[in-house]
Amino acid sequence: MQRVMTVLLLALVAAPNTGAQDLTAEVKSLAARPDVARAMAHPGLNRDRILEEWKSLTEINAPSGKERERAEAVRKILETCGLDKIYYDAKGNLVAIRKGDGSRRAVVMDAHLDTVFREGLKIKVEIHDGKIFAPGVGDDTRNIEALLASIRALRDSGIKTRSDLIFVFTVEEETSMEGAKQFISANREKIGQYVALDGGYEGLTYGGIGINWYKHHFIGPGGHTRSRTPPYSATLPLARSIARIYSLELPKDPVVNLNIGMLGGSDVVNAKAADAWFTLDLRSVDQKAIDDYERQIAKILDEEAQRAGVQVKTEVLSKLPAAQIPGNRDSFTVRMAEAVHRALGFENPPVGNAGSNNANVALLAGLPAISTGAAPCGDSHALTEWCSIEPFYNGIKKVILMEIALAGLAGQDSDK
Ligand SMILES: [Zn+2]
Repeated sequence: MQRVMTVLLLALVAAPNTGAQDLTAEVKSLAARPDVARAMAHPGLNRDRILEEWKSLTEINAPSGKERERAEAVRKILETCGLDKIYYDAKGNLVAIRKGDGSRRAVVMDAHLDTVFREGLKIKVEIHDGKIFAPGVGDDTRNIEALLASIRALRDSGIKTRSDLIFVFTVEEETSMEGAKQFISANREKIGQYVALDGGYEGLTYGGIGINWYKHHFIGPGGHTRSRTPPYSATLPLARSIARIYSLELPKDPVVNLNIGMLGGSDVVNAKAADAWFTLDLRSVDQKAIDDYERQIAKILDEEAQRAGVQVKTEVLSKLPAAQIPGNRDSFTVRMAEAVHRALGFENPPVGNAGSNNANVALLAGLPAISTGAAPCGDSHALTEWCSIEPFYNGIKKVILMEIALAGLAGQDSDK
């Protein structure tokens, strides 16, 4: 009896996870098929070529808006891969289509071409201690290379999928995500699922954090230190506002983050500030919370401006709305991507909802989307950026299996 009870309890506890476990078993048996196994063995058998190609693409710098030289190098490789269509769209994204049997909507695999590094920077890859070092090597060149290697693996193993696989090498991810915005709005009806390869190696994200940057100004008359006071220096309402904003209580779940990182006033010691300003970075995965704090902060600024007899003016430097789709955590795409991780031996892969990359754009368009990455890397956006080399081949396997699992094998009748 005791024993039966235990089993029952375990069954109850395990119940919410059965779906994920079934899918993991399904993915494992998919990976064991001879054609899929051949595709997954491909990166291990082509290590030198993959490493050489990764190096040479990394060494072509591609600042946002100036991606064409790197895109051309990618296009030349794609031309040798037996794809059905390769083209540049109106925004300059490089798009390659591998046709499926058309019984499901397309799976988009996105990696971004652009880097954050200045035009003219000479990039030279270095390899030591099992790591590869160069600006941009991880963000996002590792994922461009993972896509190229996966395309060759699918071709050489004769895999046929149900969905079209659309590989899109996007522009301007780092600045405005305009590349993804353009691609998604032009192709919205064709797309069933969206994978942005631009994130962590061990797991995935299924939601996007909202990021809002403001520059708030207090505008006053200025004047000499000895001029009649009031009017005050515009730094007074600034200081009072900052103190009040930092005393706002911030929720922990979902968390709201707030930072005032830059401020400025008069250019000289002996003048009252006519324009005192500060920047504010406000983030949450909860858009309602962002809207709420935006309102509370605007109220503080108005009150302090009035109290000091000055004006307030707000510049919005950039706004990325929180991108959360109710139920996306339990969608086919997210559960299958998680199962792919588990099937490849990633234990308890982190599954988070605070991504900030092209997947956000897809989520905002209502598409089931995730982001993940093909290798463990560090120091992204810095000149010291690096990736571990050995796990990259495993990361490419993950990308291959994800493409097959999400797109479905043609001729199989299991449906999503
Ligand atoms: Zn990136």
